[in-house]
Amino acid sequence: MSTPKNILMLPGDGIGPEVMGEVARIITWMNDKLGSGFVVEQDLVGGSCYDVHGCAVTDATMAKAHAADAVLLGAVGGPKWDNVAREHRPEAGLLRLRKEMDLFANLRPALVFDALIDASTLKPEVVRGLDIMIVRELTAGVYFGQPRGEDVRGGVRYGFDTQIYSQPEIERVARVAFELAKKRRGKVMSVEKANVMESGVFWREIVTALHKAEYPDVTLGHMYADNCAMQLVRNPGQFDVIVTDNLFGDILSDCAAMLTGSLGMLPSASLGARDAKTGKIPAMYEPVHGSAPDIAGQGKANPLATILSHSMMLRYSFDMAAEADRLDQAVQNVLAKGLRTADIMSDGCTLVSTSGMGNAVIKEMEALG
Ligand code: NAD
Repeated sequence: MSTPKNILMLPGDGIGPEVMGEVARIITWMNDKLGSGFVVEQDLVGGSCYDVHGCAVTDATMAKAHAADAVLLGAVGGPKWDNVAREHRPEAGLLRLRKEMDLFANLRPALVFDALIDASTLKPEVVRGLDIMIVRELTAGVYFGQPRGEDVRGGVRYGFDTQIYSQPEIERVARVAFELAKKRRGKVMSVEKANVMESGVFWREIVTALHKAEYPDVTLGHMYADNCAMQLVRNPGQFDVIVTDNLFGDILSDCAAMLTGSLGMLPSASLGARDAKTGKIPAMYEPVHGSAPDIAGQGKANPLATILSHSMMLRYSFDMAAEADRLDQAVQNVLAKGLRTADIMSDGCTLVSTSGMGNAVIKEMEALG
């Protein structure tokens, strides 16, 4: 039996508990059949936490998140909590987790599965085999920079934000991108607007220096953010890892995600800095989609985005590449056999429920043993 791997599971609201239920079953299967040694604790976040505790995440849950090896989150939010005070809204729980765990690197893979190639709005020849990893800086930049606000100058109203990055903030996120590239196809594209922004010139300088000093074996390119948006749609296959700031990353990761055509298939990871004493990297894994209140409780939700987030957790938090490959392959096989939840359904395929999809993935995991 391997050393215990402590996971804090926060299913959240809407379809969150349904899709997380499938991951819980996969974890149980991995413990029983592979002796993986996961120890799972469940807790509340978002609206479900507000209903019990009057806040979107409690201090006790935050302490558990800090202590865990990884956090798995479903989704938060829903119309039931639309009128709750802003600081207690479901999203506040998510933001607190990201902020207090200092999860500065957001990893958003855009992977096109052969069986779902027609789900993309782009031509199959443009997206076939697509496998991009976008690394977005998540805790600094223009969304947090000071000063920000509104002002009246010379009788005219202004609104303003500040785009600001320190050298360590750029270096730590670029390091994540270079390390990922070393395990992938060895290419990093750094994206900014050095042509019109001082912070862009600075970003480029810092990434270039880090590359020269520590990662000369990785191929580094630079691209302006507007050109990157165009290239993602024109020829996405040219990219391996893209690293960019908070604002451009917000936009470009959504653009790249949609190349794959389906919200129910998109996983993500958010990572912090390695603790020098324990060696632990704070990490939270979650699907990109929200709580989908329109289909909650109906067994219609696609659990694959959450299952693929679990696969990212195996890979990045627990160094379980073989098990992650097995899970990814199981998902590929299930799709190749034509099983589909309603959101990715197409002619000639077989419609399955949330748990039907989870069962099929576990069956494929067995078969791949
Ligand atoms: P959403 O992602 O919840 O849903 C958008 C559409 O995609 C809906 O039609 C939904 O049915 C569908 N969908 C989403 N995930 C699916 C899945 N796994 N399987 C099948 N279909 C799926 O976005 P929204 O409707 O804009 O937001 C709903 C709630 O979720 C809001 O309260 C919003 O604030 C919240 N939200 C939370 C997160 C998060 O927790 N990270 C992210 C986005 C939105």
